[in-house]
Amino acid sequence: MTAESTGRSEDADLTVYWHERMLDHEQPAGAFKHPSTPIVAADETHPDRRERVENIVATVEHGFPEESRFLEPERATMEAIERVHDADYVDWLEEFCADGGGRIGRTTTGANEATYDAARVAAGAAVAAADHALSGRPGLPYALCRPSGHHAQPTQADGFCFLNNAAIAAEDAIASGADRVAIVDWDVHHGNGTQEAFYDRDDALLVSAHHDHGSWSEYHPQEGSLAEVGEGDGTGYTLNVPLPPGTGDRGYERLFEDVVEPVVRSYDPDLVLVSAGQDAGTVDPNGRNLVTRGGFRTLGSRVRTLADDVADGRLALIQEGGYQPSHLSFATLGVLEGVLDRLVDLEGYGHDDPMAWLDEPTELVDAWLDEAIDHHRAHWPVLAESDDG
Ligand SMILES: [Zn+2]
Repeated sequence: MTAESTGRSEDADLTVYWHERMLDHEQPAGAFKHPSTPIVAADETHPDRRERVENIVATVEHGFPEESRFLEPERATMEAIERVHDADYVDWLEEFCADGGGRIGRTTTGANEATYDAARVAAGAAVAAADHALSGRPGLPYALCRPSGHHAQPTQADGFCFLNNAAIAAEDAIASGADRVAIVDWDVHHGNGTQEAFYDRDDALLVSAHHDHGSWSEYHPQEGSLAEVGEGDGTGYTLNVPLPPGTGDRGYERLFEDVVEPVVRSYDPDLVLVSAGQDAGTVDPNGRNLVTRGGFRTLGSRVRTLADDVADGRLALIQEGGYQPSHLSFATLGVLEGVLDRLVDLEGYGHDDPMAWLDEPTELVDAWLDEAIDHHRAHWPVLAESDDG
């Protein structure tokens, strides 16, 4: 993997794999993410809008001007892509986009003529980030991917995703010699495509915390339920943790302390990948959770410490969702503050999140977490009994 440096020194603390080609991907406007309807006078831009990642670029440049550098990834190779996706599906996607794209069936996902190429660049960014981490190069790698990947299944697009960036990166790491890869998916939606890619495997562990949104149609058959734990050799290596609406900073910190950390420590991976979707943030139009900049800072800090302890620091962030463009900047700033152990004093905002305004229903969150922990203890005895049994 070669990449052209567009930024600063070789030993920057943060390396962002980013290419402007990913801005050319567009999904169709309509009634939010749905098709146009006569009862809505004005179509709006699809929630996966380019401003999401343009804002994150600004967040990095202004939050970490001395600590960061941007590298342009190469497109993922067909060999890398087809470790996860069926060749027939990849061929169909290329042709669909070459014909101009459009909405895919009855989904909320659409493409334009640039989507296939952008998706290959995004997958290439994830592969480069994982390779960076695995090879022990200095600085934290962050793949700023658009389109996102974690809903894309081996044979179909889903949930604004076309190629599964995290799964392709994990497969590439395994092909490069990693024995075990842990994927921590804190996006507010189920990492159903990643689950599907590794469901019968024990060389990739998936912990996905998400809304209990279930399955819908043939495009998204996975449920994200506690019962989906993997099959065959993969039994126990999928851990779904459904969370109730309103889960905030405290619930996610407990998720890490009581589930993610003991399980990942026990798994002892060679590499930790984070499917980092910041749509568990307060005010996200595709989520109902309340994680603030400070909460994301805690998640970033904890996953960095975890990777330092269990994988000699081999950690890569892979961008997934996050759909309120302004809040996505504050939330991602929090993640990066956490992983880099820096606090950015933002003029007018200090260290705060201006969009945090609701309290978390902690009893409900604890009850759901207790249930998840009790369920997963069957495969992970390391999970502690909750205080009330
Ligand atoms: Zn999401």
